[in-house]
Amino acid sequence: MKIGFIGLGNMGSVVARNLMKAGHDVTVWNRSPGKADALVAEGAIRAATPAEAAQGDVVQTILADDTALEAVSFGPDGILSAPSKAIHVSHSTISVKLAERLTQAHADHGSVLVSAPVFGRPAAAEAAKLFIAAAGPADALDMCEPVFDAIGQKTFRIGGHPPAANIVKLCGNFMILAAVEALAEAMTLAQKHGVAKATLLEVMTGTLFGSPAYQIYGDIMVRDAFRPAGFAAPLGLKDMNLVSAAATTAWVPMPALSVLRDHLMATVAREGEEIDWSGIAKIIAEDAGA
Ligand code: NAP
Repeated sequence: MKIGFIGLGNMGSVVARNLMKAGHDVTVWNRSPGKADALVAEGAIRAATPAEAAQGDVVQTILADDTALEAVSFGPDGILSAPSKAIHVSHSTISVKLAERLTQAHADHGSVLVSAPVFGRPAAAEAAKLFIAAAGPADALDMCEPVFDAIGQKTFRIGGHPPAANIVKLCGNFMILAAVEALAEAMTLAQKHGVAKATLLEVMTGTLFGSPAYQIYGDIMVRDAFRPAGFAAPLGLKDMNLVSAAATTAWVPMPALSVLRDHLMATVAREGEEIDWSGIAKIIAEDAGA
């Protein structure tokens, strides 16, 4: 397929490479052009603008946040200024509100949005093992199957309304950070009673908590490997704020969410912006003098 790929950060750079490995014809664009150099050297075509990248069958975006996706979609040289009708596959973790706005804007433009946020850190992305939650018109989802197969291990279809996939992603990120919070509090408790973090993790993941969330983040916590950040704390805070906005719209009290946001805030304030979002475990331990 002829694919435009926009956003070559931690996730995008490895996802784009997997599309090329699968034999797709990939045109790339990134705000900071230097990040495209390696992929261009490997055979990708460099686009001068997002609109130019949107000339193929599909244009994929994996960008930091709502502001970034708005700039790339609605800006003067944005995707929606292109005459072509490429399917826009949006992988970024964004607000439900922006997903709704983009769905309508694509309909007005005569094109289609597929919301396809992903679960999995950069290592999973590199191994083409992402999980994809995809929503959009069924024929567009069918057309995107080869793209999803090249970058992920499983695609879940969430239905015909794109924003539904974004709410699933936000629920997932809330649950991941809640798992980190629970594990960090338990590890701190165990440690202060003389039980090593690794021992607690082995028992929990070997009994009732053998899920990737506990295994992956538990390993990071045992090794205190919060830097370099696979998913930086400010991005995690962005996501918890998106969860909060979605909860407010629907009048859903989420008391645990408030704790998670405050712990992320304290993590960035005390440790800087370059720490992984699971760095909340460091703050939780320090608060206990551990
Ligand atoms: P990242 O490394 O910070 O990359 C962000 C990308 O967005 C870069 O290409 C950056 O361009 C671009 N960007 C930022 N602001 C922009 C703007 N105003 N206009 C145009 N482009 C802009 O982030 P990431 O870790 O790859 O994450 C990308 C998305 O995937 C996020 O929505 C994140 O929540 C989601 N996600 C991440 C993970 C993870 O573990 N990392 C997992 C699942 C989902 P520059 O290079 O010019 O800065």
